[in-house]
Amino acid sequence: MGASPGDTVVFFILIDALGWNILQTHPFLESIAPHRCCNRTVLGFSSAAIPTILTGKLPSEHGRWNLLSLAQGRSPFFWVKPFRFLPRSFVENRGARKVVNTVSKIISRSEGYFSSYGVPFCHLHRFDVCEKKNIYKPGGIPGCETIIDYMRDAGVSYRVYSYHDGTDEELLDRMGHDVAANDAYVYFQYLSGMDAFLHQKCGMTSEVAKKMDWYADNITNIYRAVIENGKSVRLFLFSDHGMTPIVNHYDLISDLTTHGIDLERDCMAAFDSTMARFWVPQMGVESRIRLALERCTAGRWLPEEELRELGVHFPDHRYGDMIFLMHPGTLIFPNWFGRYAPAGMHGFHPDDSHSDAAYISNVEQYSPKSICDFFGVMKNEIDALRRYS
Ligand SMILES: [Zn+2]
Repeated sequence: MGASPGDTVVFFILIDALGWNILQTHPFLESIAPHRCCNRTVLGFSSAAIPTILTGKLPSEHGRWNLLSLAQGRSPFFWVKPFRFLPRSFVENRGARKVVNTVSKIISRSEGYFSSYGVPFCHLHRFDVCEKKNIYKPGGIPGCETIIDYMRDAGVSYRVYSYHDGTDEELLDRMGHDVAANDAYVYFQYLSGMDAFLHQKCGMTSEVAKKMDWYADNITNIYRAVIENGKSVRLFLFSDHGMTPIVNHYDLISDLTTHGIDLERDCMAAFDSTMARFWVPQMGVESRIRLALERCTAGRWLPEEELRELGVHFPDHRYGDMIFLMHPGTLIFPNWFGRYAPAGMHGFHPDDSHSDAAYISNVEQYSPKSICDFFGVMKNEIDALRRYS
């Protein structure tokens, strides 16, 4: 750290989906930040991994896993319950879904990422959306301290940028201006555009390289502007997970219906892109579902012990009584989360090397092993700034 906080600024830059594997194909920021290492992610999507980065805790501790869960109290979709007996053609269409999402978001005063996805209308009133607050604001994860809370309480001046306020280009521009104006000591930047890009272009080497150049150039420009101003930068760049190329699609829904499972009457289910989750209120149905997918070679049931080890076991089963995870590279398609099949997907088992996240820095001091460790790095940097102020 410099002689005083006035000499040094700290950048925490989180690039969604910039995995360890694609870094092996590109000299990404090597000239300014040569220290880098591979980091294990958590099972789940960004809805689990980013809260883990922000809190340093596993999903079972901070409570965030997949976007949809069984409502513990009142569901934001409670008001659609009386309409569940309407003919499907009235309710299962894009227009009705848009109205449901908009009204439910307003009713629940949600500031976060909100959608009912493809959950059948008849079950919607039992579901909840786990991210109702803007997690990049203080108090964003109720019941759990985030690094944003920590920065606020530490009294260091900081700025936070996220997709709530603009595109990656706009956010980097804003950060550049703020840095030039000496606006703060700590800058936390969350960039989501790489994730959307890699979902479409995963495996397209030259296009991915161009996109990485764009991020590297923008970050380097901000970095150099600070150095030219006579200050130093402690740069920490990390990701939440990688991106696995999709090589196969599997129609799990057909498999279940072929085995006589009625997905509206027998159980409630959520078909995420890489995992299927089931809530089974009736005795006997659990073993029928288990048996139906036991024969499926495209994935496997996750036993409770493994869910515990992975930090995604919830005793109240709000995220499902039974979890079926696809093997890396196989997408559940169709699923309830998207109308198109992407070229890349994340949310497979963390043992899959494509899932690994990355850590990059110009500081040699830390060697994080897991995305849970990024919180400790950020906390340490904030503590160091506080000591000087
Ligand atoms: Zn994604």
